Amino acid sequence: MSDNDSKIIIWRLLSYLKFYKIRIMGGIVCTVFMGLSDAVLAPTLGKLINGLGQISDSLSNGEGVNAVIDGVNLERLGSNFALIDPIIINGYEQARNLLIGLGLFIVCLMIFKGFFVYSKEYLMSSVIQKSVKNLRDDLYSHLLHLKMRFFDREKTGEIMSGMTNNVQVVEQSLGAFVVLAQAFVYSVIFITALFIVEWRLTLFALIVFPVSGFVLKLFSKAIRKTSRKIMAKIADINAFLQESITSIKIIKTYNRELYETKRFENKTYQNYSYSMKANRLVAFLKPTNEFMSTVGMMAVILFSGVRILNQDMDIEIFTTFAVLISMAYKPIKTLGETQPVIQRALAASERIFDLLDEEPEVSVKKHLKLSSKTGGAVEFKDVEFSYNGKDSVLNGISLSVNSGETVALVGPSGVGKSTIINLLLGFYECQSGSIYIDGEDIRNFSRQSLRNMMSLVPQETILFSGSVRENIRYGKLEADEDEIIAAAKSANAHEFIDNFPDGYDTEIGERGIQISGGQRQRIAIARAILKNPAILLLDEATSSLDAESERLVQEATNILIKERTTFIIAHRLSTINNADKIVVMDKGRIIQMGSHNELISQKGLYKKLYDLQFK
Ligand code: ADP
Repeated sequence: MSDNDSKIIIWRLLSYLKFYKIRIMGGIVCTVFMGLSDAVLAPTLGKLINGLGQISDSLSNGEGVNAVIDGVNLERLGSNFALIDPIIINGYEQARNLLIGLGLFIVCLMIFKGFFVYSKEYLMSSVIQKSVKNLRDDLYSHLLHLKMRFFDREKTGEIMSGMTNNVQVVEQSLGAFVVLAQAFVYSVIFITALFIVEWRLTLFALIVFPVSGFVLKLFSKAIRKTSRKIMAKIADINAFLQESITSIKIIKTYNRELYETKRFENKTYQNYSYSMKANRLVAFLKPTNEFMSTVGMMAVILFSGVRILNQDMDIEIFTTFAVLISMAYKPIKTLGETQPVIQRALAASERIFDLLDEEPEVSVKKHLKLSSKTGGAVEFKDVEFSYNGKDSVLNGISLSVNSGETVALVGPSGVGKSTIINLLLGFYECQSGSIYIDGEDIRNFSRQSLRNMMSLVPQETILFSGSVRENIRYGKLEADEDEIIAAAKSANAHEFIDNFPDGYDTEIGERGIQISGGQRQRIAIARAILKNPAILLLDEATSSLDAESERLVQEATNILIKERTTFIIAHRLSTINNADKIVVMDKGRIIQMGSHNELISQKGLYKKLYDLQFK
C-alpha cells in the first residue's frame, strides 16, 4: 500500500466522523481549554518554585531558620523568638500567603481542567461509538446485498473476522486519532507559549521534532506491513474455528480432536510470531522516542544552565520553560504510542473497505407488480450457465411452465437441478439465453421484486433463533395472529405448536427447544404458505422421516403447491407422480420431459432411475 492509498483509507475512515461535526468541535474546544489550563500551570509552577526559593533565601539570612515552618514551631523557639528579625517574619508571611494563593489557584485550575477533560472524553467517545456503530451497520447491510458469488468465494469465518475483529481495531484507532488530534492542539498551544517565554531556546528545542518524524515514518511502514499479516492470520484462525464448530460431529466421530488442535496451534503460532515482530518494532519505537525527547530536554537544561550561571536567565523562566517543553514533547511520545494502533487500523480498514467496495446485486431496476395469485408462468430459453466461466453447468436449457403448473426436476446429483433454481431466484445471471416470468425477462426485475414472487423451501430447513411465531412470520412480516395460525394449520403444524410449553412463543433455534425434522419442515412450509408466492421452489429433503411425519409433510406440501407454479427438485420419485411435467436432466441438459406415465413408457434415464428406486 502506497502512502497515497493509506491517505485515502484514513480519509475514508475519518469520513465516518463527519456526521458529528458539532460534537467534534465541542471536543476541540474542550481540548483547547485543557491545553490552556496546562499552559497556565507552567508559569504558576515557575512562580511557586521561585517563591519557595525566595523564602528559603530570606530565611537563610535569619536565625532559627530551619525551625520556622509553622506557628507551633515559632512558639517552641521560646526566648529565641525575639531575635527573629520582623522583616523576616513579614517576608515569611508574604511568601506563605503567596504559596497558599498559588496552591488554591492550582486546585481551581485542576477543577476547571477536570470539567473539560470529562466533557471532551464524553463527546469524543460518543462520536467514536456512534461512528463505529454506523460502520458496523453499513457493513452488515452491504454484506446482505452482495452477490452470491461473493459468498461462494469467501470463507464465512474470514467474513466474520472482517466484520468483528477488524471493526474493533478500527474502533481503537479512532480513539488514537482523537488522542493525536489532542496532541496536535497541545503542540500548537505549548509551542506558542514557548515562543512567548523564550523564542531562542524554543527554536533550539524544536530540532527534535523533524528527527522524530523521520524515525516514525520508518517504523510505521514496517508496523503496517506486519499488521496486515496479523489481520490475515486472525481471519484465518476465525475461519478455521468456524469450520471446526460446524464440523464438530465429524471431528468427534473420527477422533480428530488432537489432529485439529495441532492444525490450530500451527495457525496460532504464525499469528504469535507476526504479533511478536510487530511488538518488537513497537518496543523499539517507544524508547527511541523517549530517548529523543530526553536528549532535547537535556540540551535545553544544559543550554539554560549555562545561561543561569551567567545570570542571563532567571530560575522562574527556566522552570516555566522546562514544564512547557516537557508538555510540548508529549505529542512526540503520543505519536509513537498511537502509531502501532493506527497502522493496525490501516491494515484492518483495507479489508473493511474491500468488503464495502464489493459490488452489490442489482438493486432498484424496473419494479413490476405481480399479483401472487395470478401470473407465475416461467420460461427458460436457451439458457447457458457456468459458475466459473469455464465449466459449463447448464447447456441450452429451454423449458416452458404455465402458471400454476408443477414441474419436477429429476436426475443424478450434480446435473444442474439446483442451478436452475438459483438462476430463477436471480442468485446468478445466465451467460446466454434468458429466463422470463409472465413474458418479462427477469433481468428487468429488481432482485427484490423478483424474489417477492417466490418462496424457497430448501433441503435443509433453516429456522432462526427466536419464537415459532417469529419464524413463521418471516414469510410476511406484517401478518396478524390469525394469518399465522391459518398458515400453521395448513402446514399441519398448528397442533404440535399448540402443544409446545409456550405455544407460538416457544423459542426454537440453537438455544431453544429441540424439535424434530418433520416439525421443522412443517414450520418452514407454514412460513412459505404465509408468504403466498406465485412461484414456489422446493428442494425436497433427502433425509427420510418416519411414515407419519412423511404423510403430514406431504399433505402440507400438497397444500403449498396448490394454485401456484412449483419447481420441485425431487429425490424420491414417489412424491412426483402428480407433477404436470417431469423434467429429466443429465450433465446440464434436459434429456426427457413429460408426465410420469409418458416417461415410464419410454426407455430412458427416468425409467432407469425409477426402476433403481422401486425394484
Ligand atoms: P444438482 O442440484 O443437480 O445436484 P447443482 O446444480 O447443485 O446440481 O450443481 C451442478 C454443478 O455445478 C455441479 O458440478 C456443482 O459442483 C457445480 N456447482 C454448484 N454450485 C456451485 C457454486 N456455488 N460454485 C461453483 N460450482 C457450483
